[in-house]
Amino acid sequence: MSFIDRVEVRVSAGSGGSGCVSFRREAFVPKGGPDGGDGGKGGSVFVTGDPSLTTLLDYKYHTHWKVKRAGHGRGSNKTGKSTSDLHLPVPLGTEVHDAETGELIGEVVQADQVVMVAKGGRGGRGNAQFATPTHRAPTESEPGKVGERRRMELVLKLIADVGLLGEPNAGKSTLLSVITAARPKIADYPFTTLNPNLGVVGLSGGRSFVVADIPGIIEGAHAGKGLGHQFLQHIERTRVLAYLIPVDAEDLQDKYALLRSEVREYSGKLAAKPHLVALTKADLLPSEAGQLVVEAPESSGTYVISAAVGKGLDDLQETLWELLQGSAERAEAGEVGEPTLG
Ligand code: GDP
Ligand code: MG
Repeated sequence: MSFIDRVEVRVSAGSGGSGCVSFRREAFVPKGGPDGGDGGKGGSVFVTGDPSLTTLLDYKYHTHWKVKRAGHGRGSNKTGKSTSDLHLPVPLGTEVHDAETGELIGEVVQADQVVMVAKGGRGGRGNAQFATPTHRAPTESEPGKVGERRRMELVLKLIADVGLLGEPNAGKSTLLSVITAARPKIADYPFTTLNPNLGVVGLSGGRSFVVADIPGIIEGAHAGKGLGHQFLQHIERTRVLAYLIPVDAEDLQDKYALLRSEVREYSGKLAAKPHLVALTKADLLPSEAGQLVVEAPESSGTYVISAAVGKGLDDLQETLWELLQGSAERAEAGEVGEPTLG
């Protein structure tokens, strides 16, 4: 399942410092030569690939990035202090557009790859640079060049690794909101009636994966909605599925069979994904819930969880991670699926 995450960010490169007009003062010399230094160079703004990032979240809250103006030149031929370039880290796969023209400035696909988005201004020359044998006491100097400014749009196509499937009220949205810290707002999703949600799960050791709540497939089937082929293709790109069934469902085994058959009807490819069964809302049956099991030989097991009280969530997330590792290995061996993020 893929989602477009986009943000608009204003960037301003540093302006150059101005050149200085100054003359040397020396003992016994009424007027020395020109010694006005040049202005410093303003820092540029770059977008830089950072493989540890998976979202553009940082830029939703901080939307204007600016480099300071460089220092002006000074007497004694002192050049003004330049300002450092600013590097804005973005996840791999981020496209950089000019927000006004829509023009593609570049795409960041590798670690440490840089795309310049606003060029810093060069420093102005001081009067020392204007001296010639016939023009020994120049009073000219230049202002620093203004740094470029731009409104840019960052566009990231996210591919969810794990899809949450279940009937309405199974607890998909709640689980997503509990296990993912970041929830990017998803703009312009083409299936607006089927508002998908997605988030990034962060585990120890810098491990992370993207989870999507998939309201469309089952709920849409129940509502008799015809979901487009394109939607199906997006779902098919998830690598692992979790089937959610609330513990207070009448017959857990029946519910699982129903989910399986509905998924199979949708797509054999989807039904063949590695999956696990999560029995949700375990807090509703505190005493017996731990014992519940669903007969699901094709699955990687039954996990009894409660998003409300945080039960079983670590185990669930670690298992999903392991399933993802397994699916990545199989993809590398050329068997199934496709590796996505990370
Ligand atoms: P979705 O339709 O699958 O996205 O389900 P929601 O996440 O919206 O949850 C449906 C209802 O179940 C909501 O009223 C939730 O508050 C409730 N719910 C979700 N998770 C839990 C849980 O772990 N324990 C309990 N007791 N209720 C839950
Ligand atoms: Mg929901």
